[in-house]
Amino acid sequence: MLTNSKQQLLEYFPADYFSARERFNRLTGERGGQCTAYRIGTRGPGGEALSIDSAYFGAASPQRLLIVTSGIHGAEGFAGSALQQHIINDLIDTPGTAALGGILLVHALNPYGFAYIRRTNENNVDLNRNALGDFPGPANPAYEAFDAVLNPRSPPGRRTRFTPGLLWRGLQTGARAARQAIAGGQYRFARGLFYGGANTEDSISIFERILQAQACDPMMQVVHIDLHTGLGKYGDYKLFVQLATGSPALQPLQEWCGDRVIATADSGRSGSYSASGLIGSLTPRIFANARAITATLEFGTYPLLRVLSMLCKENQLFHYGCADATLSEKIRADFLETFCPHDARWRLALLEHGGRVFQQITNGLFGT
Ligand SMILES: [Zn+2]
Repeated sequence: MLTNSKQQLLEYFPADYFSARERFNRLTGERGGQCTAYRIGTRGPGGEALSIDSAYFGAASPQRLLIVTSGIHGAEGFAGSALQQHIINDLIDTPGTAALGGILLVHALNPYGFAYIRRTNENNVDLNRNALGDFPGPANPAYEAFDAVLNPRSPPGRRTRFTPGLLWRGLQTGARAARQAIAGGQYRFARGLFYGGANTEDSISIFERILQAQACDPMMQVVHIDLHTGLGKYGDYKLFVQLATGSPALQPLQEWCGDRVIATADSGRSGSYSASGLIGSLTPRIFANARAITATLEFGTYPLLRVLSMLCKENQLFHYGCADATLSEKIRADFLETFCPHDARWRLALLEHGGRVFQQITNGLFGT
């Protein structure tokens, strides 16, 4: 039940990575959860230690487990952390959970990107394309046609030909194929967008360790929800799954959350695409005997072209710098706004929608 006023709910949105982590851990302690911190090798802008933090609530060896992860795309962690704090402080029913299962929340899977307000990690890797068993990752020749538009080898300027360039390429390729070529991930252009890396990155190894350390019944049921922003209609949400339409494994999610909010990889609905190395692919791999389903919970912000344009400009700024300090500041501010709009209505809608999905899944999974 929501007991907080709107103002209190809005305070879950953090000012930065460090205050987000502090509140995530404090609320976990206050609600009787178990916190564990996992340091990564890189440090924050002021030399601070950076960590991925986990919070666990529930049975010592659960038969049913819900995993909620945030911030694999650094800057998307502002919204992901807010929702996790809301879940911990207002929505987790500890006695109900303890009897039947467990809830594992993993905070800031990409602490570098969250602290520095980037989507990628310290090696420019899109961590949600990095969870592969083997490297190099699969070739994506279709991406090459977009490389010159997406990854100019120059500082960002005030005037950009990004949109016409992308639209022209997109028209030649077809909208759906273009989306797949760009967002599906690539392993060739190390300074480019959606780069999946050349090796397993720290964050992925740490998440594997967190899952392996999770005691559980061997025949359990696992649901993993990975929180994201920036894809879909402003203020709306969708659960993206890498399963084919009609797959029997989809049924529980359809039943609990409603078919309307689910987008399968082959449906072409609301910007869906298939990708390699998604973080959600680790959960069924590690809980190999369990019935596992993973989904990406996406909260829409701005139109796709604006999101792509911001990704491109911020990437140019990072790699090639910019002599114009005002423009640099504007790009950084616009980038954050793209993944966590300041608009109070958007923020409250995210907590309401995300809270609803959490309750639908816990009700279904734990039978409460
Ligand atoms: Zn994302």
